Amino acid sequence: MKQIGLFGGTFDPVHYGHLAVGKAAIARFAFDILYFIPAAVPPHKTERLITPFSHRVAMLRLALKDEPRFVVSEIEGQRNGPSYTIDTLSQFRQELGPGADFFFIIGLDAFGDITTWNRYRKLLAATSFVVIDRPTHHRRTVAQVVAEDLPDYREAGTGVWRNTAGMHIYALEMNPVAVSSSLVRERLRRRMDVQGMVPQVVVEYLRSNGLPLGEEVKG
Ligand code: ATP
Repeated sequence: MKQIGLFGGTFDPVHYGHLAVGKAAIARFAFDILYFIPAAVPPHKTERLITPFSHRVAMLRLALKDEPRFVVSEIEGQRNGPSYTIDTLSQFRQELGPGADFFFIIGLDAFGDITTWNRYRKLLAATSFVVIDRPTHHRRTVAQVVAEDLPDYREAGTGVWRNTAGMHIYALEMNPVAVSSSLVRERLRRRMDVQGMVPQVVVEYLRSNGLPLGEEVKG
């Protein structure tokens, strides 16, 4: 059985927090491949302009080039309409066949809203989740989200829950990296440097493409 990690996000732009998540997840789960999947039209981020998909993909490719098991997937750029994870997962299942186990990687901030996701019950029955705690976003713990919102799961070990479909939720601890794409965009807008927050190749890409990363649009 191949172990496949799926890491969805906006990646506007990719930063060291994302890379640290990928490394922590691959260290624990020994994925054969970990796909980074930029959303073409993120359903949860409609309040601002998003940098064009092709630029976000290009920056991801640069940032991931030294990690052979990290692969950029353009699967969500090939569909029209909002990028729903359940559709992405179905497409991966179809393409990779029955010999693959999937683990969807997600930050705790996003996981706390899982019950607002399109067809979330179907999604939870179709894939395991790896949930990563995230500094500066201290809301509910994974255990609280499971206890309050996901009655179909039972505890199956420390930081592990299992549902009736046999899918798991794993809480993954990692050393916190206090970076977010919003912080990077904000610093770029103020013409501050973002060294140490995003890989140097991404800094250079931003510079040479003169990218005004999606301006925040209020309201
Ligand atoms: P923004 O600041 O624009 O909301 P972001 O930094 O959260 O962006 P996304 O592309 O939305 O980046 O994140 C993709 C996934 O990575 C999400 O599940 C998010 O929770 C997680 N993530 C992002 N940054 C970190 C970090 N520093 N530590 C842990 N998880 C992170």
